[in-house]
Amino acid sequence: MNSDTQAYDVIVIGAGHAGCEAALASARMGCATLLLTIDMDKIASMPCSPSIGGMAKGQLVKEIDALGGQMAKITDSSAIQYKTLNTSKGPAVHSTRTQNDKGLYSRNMKAVIEQTRHLDLKQAMAHELRIEGRTVTGILDQTGFEYSAKAVVIATGTFLQGTVHIGATKIQAGRAGEFSSIGLARNLAGLGFSVDRMKTGTPPRLHADTIDFSQFAVHPSSDALKPFSFSTKTISNPMVPSYLGRTNARTHEIIRNNLQHSALYGGISRAGPPATALPLRTRSSNSRNGKATMSSWNTRAFTPKKSMPRAWATACPWRSSTRWSGPSGAWRRPRS
Ligand SMILES: Cc1cc2nc3c(=O)[nH]c(=O)nc-3n(C[C@H](O)[C@H](O)[C@H](O)COP(=O)(O)OP(=O)(O)OC[C@H]3O[C@@H](n4cnc5c(N)ncnc54)[C@H](O)[C@@H]3O)c2cc1C
Repeated sequence: MNSDTQAYDVIVIGAGHAGCEAALASARMGCATLLLTIDMDKIASMPCSPSIGGMAKGQLVKEIDALGGQMAKITDSSAIQYKTLNTSKGPAVHSTRTQNDKGLYSRNMKAVIEQTRHLDLKQAMAHELRIEGRTVTGILDQTGFEYSAKAVVIATGTFLQGTVHIGATKIQAGRAGEFSSIGLARNLAGLGFSVDRMKTGTPPRLHADTIDFSQFAVHPSSDALKPFSFSTKTISNPMVPSYLGRTNARTHEIIRNNLQHSALYGGISRAGPPATALPLRTRSSNSRNGKATMSSWNTRAFTPKKSMPRAWATACPWRSSTRWSGPSGAWRRPRS
């Protein structure tokens, strides 16, 4: 250990959703904890759909809440729409899903972290694990600063060797606009860990002023707002609707004609379909008549002007994404 070393009980690498919970749990147990992250303004960021919960995931959020975690509380403090899914079935399979204000979610989680005793938050990129024998003793960041710890938790999400594909364009990034974590990935591989990438996708973001919302069905919040957290007494944010539409034959024609430009279907990316965000092409072929895909638009989840079509994850280049989501009329209102 050199004289510049800072000592902790626990170091958590990554202030995403998992890292925040790990760091809070450790600090609340009284352990001197360091939470290290690449960008302090992107804490608990939602890279895609700004939604929490849904089938299976909603149950997990409630379990985290029951165990004293933070996610459900932050969800309630930043939600702008609540839905209870599966209400036609019994209560055991009901699921809560919210749409959230992305910025508010992140700011609220950051505020809790900053106010938690025994928890230090630092912006730095972990580069290397320090190992003695077969025991981890700390980490080295990319500037050469060393931190010692009795335990290190790695919660680096999509960042290890992260790569973004947009059609044929390939960029090294953890998420859009953020560094990829390359040094740590190489270090872990050198230590004998198997390091690979999982894959997901995301829809294009559209300017709300360019969308004719009168062509969509309004999709409001559930009448009875059921908080995620057992400790939430009131929900104070105003609720905001989404808008529901279906693709049509024109949308599917544009997709078919542009599939060769897609990183997924044009053979550019070697990975299979994503686990989290199903691409629009896959949804198209899974839909009952092979033509119509239900999709809803979050209007306010990012900023009042930035809108996002849920269920439209794509790896196509900008030009073809713009054509099918643009003013060519590739939408129709769902039958009620
Ligand atoms: C484009 C896109 C779309 C997605 N869509 C969905 C979706 O629809 N549904 C869904 O459930 N999931 C989706 N995901 C997956 C999503 O990443 C995870 O669900 C969720 O964010 C994982 O949380 P996490 O805490 O594991 O990691 P993340 O939220 O990815 O957080 C990782 C953290 O680690 C930090 N970090 C990484 N390397 C280092 C390092 N070396 N040193 C310091 N800090 C480091 C980063 O700065 C970041 O704060 C999507 C991901 C992407 C990129």
